[in-house]
Amino acid sequence: MILAVLGLLALQAPASITIATARGEDAVEVRTDVTGAPMLAASGLVSALGGSVRISGSWAEVAIGRQPFRFLLGAPFYSYNDRVQPLAAGATLIHDTLYLPLQLATEALPRLFAKQYRYDAENARLVEAGAPAVAARPASDVSPSASAAPTVRDDASRLPSGILPGHLVTIDPGHGGVDPGNPGMFFPRGVREKDVTLQIGLLVRDELKRRGVAVRMTRTTDTLIALGDRGAYCSDGCDLFLSIHINSLPRRPGYTAARGFETYFLAEAKTEDARRVARMENDAVRFETETVASNPTGGLDFILKDLQLNEHLRESALLAERVQDNLDRVHTGTNRGVKQAGFMVLTTARRPAILAELGYSTNPEDGRFLTSSAGQRQLAVALADAVVAYLHEYERRAGSADSGRGG
Ligand SMILES: [Zn+2]
Repeated sequence: MILAVLGLLALQAPASITIATARGEDAVEVRTDVTGAPMLAASGLVSALGGSVRISGSWAEVAIGRQPFRFLLGAPFYSYNDRVQPLAAGATLIHDTLYLPLQLATEALPRLFAKQYRYDAENARLVEAGAPAVAARPASDVSPSASAAPTVRDDASRLPSGILPGHLVTIDPGHGGVDPGNPGMFFPRGVREKDVTLQIGLLVRDELKRRGVAVRMTRTTDTLIALGDRGAYCSDGCDLFLSIHINSLPRRPGYTAARGFETYFLAEAKTEDARRVARMENDAVRFETETVASNPTGGLDFILKDLQLNEHLRESALLAERVQDNLDRVHTGTNRGVKQAGFMVLTTARRPAILAELGYSTNPEDGRFLTSSAGQRQLAVALADAVVAYLHEYERRAGSADSGRGG
């Protein structure tokens, strides 16, 4: 579906678009990135619509009009109002100039700000409210050579799941032992978060093995592994780290209504709710007897800075997207999106690392879904398929040569 849309976009991409505002008209050239996706110079958009462009580490911060957008360079999404939305291509630097997917002007802006922007595809015009009406000009050029369909090498050594053999993934069932996690308000009597994360974690392991992916578990029994030690399970030869948790809310009016799933990658928390979830999960350190408990966020700032300059952040965000998309296909609750926050458990992983909150134990429907064998199996299949899809994309991006390593 996404590939079909992408192909269509590339096929129909005009050579330039016109941006019409009350202040006048600007033509902004469309060029293609290495994948053939049509792109616009951010400076062209901003000079026509107002705003600013700033590159900060791996992020591009672009104000369009007065609206702040964030782009992780190379990652096919944008972040607006702390919500991550997919794009057909990623923002990219070409000779120090920031290029954004054309889709931003043709789809995202008109959808987000329907009163302010309208895209006239026939005439390749992005029209801001208040722009004077102008006679239509002839349809723009089509660039027939552009093809966005990625080529996948047909490789006899691929597994039936489509990926190369040799992948290793770490699954981290949250909490354990003296740390029960949240009490599981709508779980069957005596079942706590630590039990459900382990049940689902073990199912994910089985599903991944079935797909030819080796799995290392941080725990397979009801034991406590220190937060600071969990990431170390994903070191040499490990492709990624997936931590599994169940969300809950403190007692307050209407708190049992919140439900659904969200996936976090490690970065500075952007919203109060993301900070709340990180605080709750980081609180597990109080069950640990080692000195780490005295300094629960020790080193986090340093590691954050390190990570921001580092491709694991980008890969983690892509992995989180894949996981969130796949959970959306099976989960009965709300898709709460990909989010970012400072989870201690993720700071020590030196590989792409994400934390999935699979639902709320404080919601009756989520509670049932998370503890039913059918629900758990569906979640495990969705997570395993997401991991395989991510690994497949990673192989495609990295070139399959260096992805078949043993581990
Ligand atoms: Zn948890």
